[in-house]
Amino acid sequence: MKLIAGNWKMHKGPAETLAFFDGFEAPDGVDVVLCPPFVSLEAAVGEDWPIYAQNVHCAGDGAFTGEISAAMLVELGVHGALVGHSERRQYFGESDDSVRARAEAALEAGLKVIACVGESEAEREAGLTESVLARQVAVLPRHADLVIAYEPVWAIGTGKTATTEMVQDAHAYIKSLHDTRVLYGGSVKPENAGELLAQADVDGALVGGASLDPGSFAAICLAGSRS
Ligand code: PEP
Repeated sequence: MKLIAGNWKMHKGPAETLAFFDGFEAPDGVDVVLCPPFVSLEAAVGEDWPIYAQNVHCAGDGAFTGEISAAMLVELGVHGALVGHSERRQYFGESDDSVRARAEAALEAGLKVIACVGESEAEREAGLTESVLARQVAVLPRHADLVIAYEPVWAIGTGKTATTEMVQDAHAYIKSLHDTRVLYGGSVKPENAGELLAQADVDGALVGGASLDPGSFAAICLAGSRS
């Protein structure tokens, strides 16, 4: 079964979160996850879908202003967490080591994890895609509850989608390094979801912008249920 995860980034407070769920329906035959901002998690966990946080800290507790622990998420009824999103790496200084530590802490607490990897445009142009992916994947725990999302940084929020061939090649490479499901992320929309999800090694999608609207996210879930 394909897994379709929606990452709302810094969009939707609790009221808009509830409004989304009022208008959202997904077909059978697809796993669906939503990742609202921290302040909307409590509203979202009362709904029917698995809810993941967009990040999680590696420490149990302590002097880490602005961070949230895995135990706090578990207490709230959250099912999992993203780690290593490229926006966290790019704007908030997260490194491969901190991504590994966050993933380990989340898994140890019983959360599921979607760990994001992907090369920048400059790295792809320099022929470094595989070495970047190898470095980022090497640190990720081998665990049944960890899924990888391949998100080429140059395709996130830009409207540029990787070609199906680039996606298939990258996914096959990641799977040769780590035996897990691999989602694709980067400007996935209802119009391109079917083609991307039809690739042999694409096990689902991590969707940013197009997950904000219940209709467009439901259309992507439908494509997932058919592929
Ligand atoms: C993301 O935020 O993980 C993402 C892939 O964003 P978008 O779909 O908007 O490119």
